[in-house]
Amino acid sequence: MYSWLHASLQQLSQRAAAYSLHHALLLKGEKGIGKTEIAQQLGQFLLCANKPSLPQEDLGPCGHCQSCLLLAAGNHPDLYEIRSDKQIGVDAIRDAIKKLSGSAQLSGAKVLVIHDAHTMTESSANALLKTLEEPTNNTFLLLLSSHPERLLPTILSRCEKVALPSPTQQECITWLKDEGYANVDETLLRLYGTSPLVLIEHVKTPPKVNYQELVENLGYLKVGTADPAALAAKWQDEAITIVKWLQVWLVNELKASQKNTEHLWQMHGRCVNANEQLRNPGVNKTLVLVNILQSMAQKA
Ligand SMILES: [Zn+2]
Repeated sequence: MYSWLHASLQQLSQRAAAYSLHHALLLKGEKGIGKTEIAQQLGQFLLCANKPSLPQEDLGPCGHCQSCLLLAAGNHPDLYEIRSDKQIGVDAIRDAIKKLSGSAQLSGAKVLVIHDAHTMTESSANALLKTLEEPTNNTFLLLLSSHPERLLPTILSRCEKVALPSPTQQECITWLKDEGYANVDETLLRLYGTSPLVLIEHVKTPPKVNYQELVENLGYLKVGTADPAALAAKWQDEAITIVKWLQVWLVNELKASQKNTEHLWQMHGRCVNANEQLRNPGVNKTLVLVNILQSMAQKA
């Protein structure tokens, strides 16, 4: 387990061993800190047939019972997972609830993991409510989210919220080193230091544009020597990264400037909107970028 999540996993496991774990947990934390991994580990522990009955220093699944072996092989019949690139539809939820309502195949616990729970549609969330309230015996629901504020209040109120920490910058650097990536670019660390799994993706597959290049072009846009449409066309594949970086840049500008912050706040608001728009798979990314770069070009 990632060092920064070790304590959280131990606390949850201790409670599971003592049968005092809430049946519905919302594991919330920033994107790219390892929510999936902690849910997998906790899920394995809940399903393991050889859980120690007394509290121990370092609790974990036994690794050799039938349950642990099936999990290692990736086909445990009592572990259900729901994930979706876009939205979690009501059919996926209904299907999972149906499976949870039966008895466990291995006569142990049943675990449902809902990745990116905030992408549930309203009807999906409503379909889940009853199960959240009155789950079948020995059933655990693990909802993962980097945007818990997007969850319906009715879902939030039925879950125990567990805030998972991001690593400190030093923890992040140490981990990257262990993964074989020493001397990671300073800017990337600053931008993604609290989301190490996102950071490592950027290190492995560098985006076609770098932050420095974006900042330079913002300067050109202001003096009219760069063309918003040309930049948007060039950057459209990295649209989400560009908008995120614009927000980082704007926050830095806001911190540095004493006056004329209104224009910067306006721009920040536009970036937040653009972010929302870019989550829609059918959106014209170039157009979103053109609009935002054009407004960046306007002088405050
Ligand atoms: Zn086991």
